[in-house]
Amino acid sequence: MNERIEALRRLQSIDTKLKRLEGDKRYRSYDIQKKQNQIQQKRAELLKISEEIKTFQKSIGIKELDLKSMEADINKLRLQMNQLKTNKEYSAMKAEIGGKEADKSVLEDEILAMMTKYEEVQQRYKVFEKELEREESELKELHKKVETDLKAMENEIVELKKRHDNYASMLDMDTLQNYNRLVSHKDAVAVVSVTNRVCQGCFMSITSQTLNQLMSDKELIFCHSCGRILYLDNGKELEEDKK
Ligand SMILES: [Zn+2]
Repeated sequence: MNERIEALRRLQSIDTKLKRLEGDKRYRSYDIQKKQNQIQQKRAELLKISEEIKTFQKSIGIKELDLKSMEADINKLRLQMNQLKTNKEYSAMKAEIGGKEADKSVLEDEILAMMTKYEEVQQRYKVFEKELEREESELKELHKKVETDLKAMENEIVELKKRHDNYASMLDMDTLQNYNRLVSHKDAVAVVSVTNRVCQGCFMSITSQTLNQLMSDKELIFCHSCGRILYLDNGKELEEDKK
C-alpha cells in the first residue's frame, strides 16, 4: 500500500478517536451538571416544605390561642351561672355555655386535623432531607470518578495527538492541507475506502477512470461526489497502530 495513503488512514483513525474522546469528555461533564440540577431541584423542594411547616406551626399556634380564650370564656360563664337567681336566666346561660362548648369541640377537631397534616409534612421533610443527603454524597462520588476518567481521557488525548503529529509529519504539505480541510468539514471523515466501486463516504459509485487511477496508486484521488480522499479497500485492515 502506498505510504501516503497508509499515513492518511492512520491519521484518520487517530482523529476519529480524538473526536470521540472529546465527545466523551463533554458527556462526563454533563453527568455532573445533571446531578447538580437534580440536587438543586430537591433543595428548592425542601425549602418549600420547610415554609409549609412554618405556616402550619403558625396556624396551629393561632388556633390554640383561640381555644384557650374560648376555655376562659366558658369558665367565666360557669362561675357566673352559679350566681344566677332565676331558672330562666340559668337555662339561658346553660344554653350559651352549650353553644360555646360545641364551638370549642369543632375547634379542637380542627386543631387535631391540622396536627395530623403537620406531622405528615414533617415526615415528608425528613424523607426529602435523607434523599438530598444521599444525592449529595453520590455527587461527591461522581465528581471523583469523573475526575479520574477525565484524567485518563486527557492522557489518551495527549498520546493520540503525539501520534497524530508523527503521521502528519510524514505527509507533504499539499496532502496534509487537503486532509485538514476535509476533516474539518466532512463530519470529521476525510479518508474513506472504495468497496465494490462504491465510495464508503457518500455511497455513490465511482467512475472507471477513478478506479483506474486508484489502481495505479500514484496520486491522491478524491471522490467526485463527496470530495473525500479515496483508497481501494483490498481487505487489508490497518494493523493496530504502532507507536
Ligand atoms: Zn464519496
